[in-house]
Amino acid sequence: MSEEALPETFLSSVSHMVDRAMRYLELPDGARHALKACDSVIQVSFPISFRDRVEVFTGWRAVHSAHRLPVKGGLRYAPTMDQEHAEALAALMTFKCALVDIPFGGSKGGLRIDPRQYNPWEMERITRRFARELIQRGYISPAQNVPAPDVGTSQREMAWIMETYRDHHPEDVNHIAATTGKPVEMGGMRGRLEATGRGVQYALQAFFRETQAAREAGLQGNLGDQRIIIQGFGNVGSHAARFLHEDDHAKIVGIINVDGGIYDPNGLDVHAVEEYLRRSGSLEGYPGVRFERHGNVLLEEECDILIPAALEGAIHRENAPNIQARLVVEAANGPCTFEADRILQDRGITILPDVYVNAGGVVVSYFEWVRNLSHMRFGRMERRYDQSQGQHIVTAIEMMTNQSAPEWLRESIVRGAEEIDLVRSGLDDTMREAFREMHEVREVESNGHVLDYRTAAYLIALRKIVRARSDLKLI
Ligand code: NAD
Repeated sequence: MSEEALPETFLSSVSHMVDRAMRYLELPDGARHALKACDSVIQVSFPISFRDRVEVFTGWRAVHSAHRLPVKGGLRYAPTMDQEHAEALAALMTFKCALVDIPFGGSKGGLRIDPRQYNPWEMERITRRFARELIQRGYISPAQNVPAPDVGTSQREMAWIMETYRDHHPEDVNHIAATTGKPVEMGGMRGRLEATGRGVQYALQAFFRETQAAREAGLQGNLGDQRIIIQGFGNVGSHAARFLHEDDHAKIVGIINVDGGIYDPNGLDVHAVEEYLRRSGSLEGYPGVRFERHGNVLLEEECDILIPAALEGAIHRENAPNIQARLVVEAANGPCTFEADRILQDRGITILPDVYVNAGGVVVSYFEWVRNLSHMRFGRMERRYDQSQGQHIVTAIEMMTNQSAPEWLRESIVRGAEEIDLVRSGLDDTMREAFREMHEVREVESNGHVLDYRTAAYLIALRKIVRARSDLKLI
């Protein structure tokens, strides 16, 4: 097959990207195929009767690699959902978990449905029935397979699914760990809702902390000096935009949604855009900016950093030659096709890959799962103890120096960490460590030329997976 004729499906793109990294690995015959193939995939179809008719829904759950249990990954509700999507997304989950040292295998699933066509009562019936189909076949359980939200699902669906599991297995004392991304009142984790967007922010902070990385990408100044376009203003995109704007003072110049995009070279007020979108349901009519009904033309607008946070395949062979950003930060899963990736690299554009950038969701899901299994909030035992220790330290210093500490310093030393502080600290540490590892591997592994971040990420992940799988070793 000629290079130009390479197919651009999601699954084939992931497969080509993994192949590229495998070139740097010595593996026994057949192991390459074993590392890419899905362990199992289930398809379920079930009827639901409402509105005077019966409708049949079809869903999937793919387990890419169960080398660690449970396997983990979101459930997507979208009209485009199919088995290939489930398999591609499940594979990304395996590599993501391995890269950021989360002890889970990879899975993903979803329903072919347009959730906007159904009311909440109908969505609840559909979701509980879908959950039942998966639970009965062992595709949801705290020990084996734990879903989380993805496109088209949220805390609400995770609560319904966890309750359905509990109804089927009331004897399982860990039933609450059957899903993650639940509402906090139902065993969810503070910081999970924002986690993927927060992880995007930490990934960018880690990148700019490494001055050589920013310089190589052709970016001047620090994160606060960058002009950013974000595609997708849902859970991931809106949180990332808000944190980068409010904490890092980056200039968000473009925001793109499914029904249009806005662009202002002077920078958008992210909070005001969120408020406007909440009230009007669309970005159209937002004052003082350029509006594009086909918002994705703005992917090609002038900016320093482009953050695709919507769906796979947003950057493809047709628009990749026109991307103006110096850095593409993949907050979505699979936003660059394999060909787009090659075109961007040939043009000297740096890509931070999905398996790293959007890992924040699964990292905090891991914290939630551990918290659910321990049946106790993080920090509950030590918080007051830490506070009194801090108080003693400040008092001792004041006694020795005969000076009183400023109130703000006293506050910050004495204050015991709350759960959200621990979650953010754990996530920040994970993103920094994974970046450091990718940065090191890129230089060491490539016989003279520097690897791209995606190949480095896959290489790290593949090595860890091979080490964890006795069935891939020659005896
Ligand atoms: P979401 O449903 O909350 O938001 C999706 C956004 O994308 C919406 O704003 C929608 O308007 C926009 N969009 C959809 N199609 C579009 C198109 N053709 N053009 C422009 N915009 C479009 O979904 P989400 O949870 O934010 O997930 C977004 C991406 O991040 C997905 O690839 C998902 O797999 C990935 N991801 C999500 C999480 C998570 O915790 N939610 C974790 C890891 C990765």
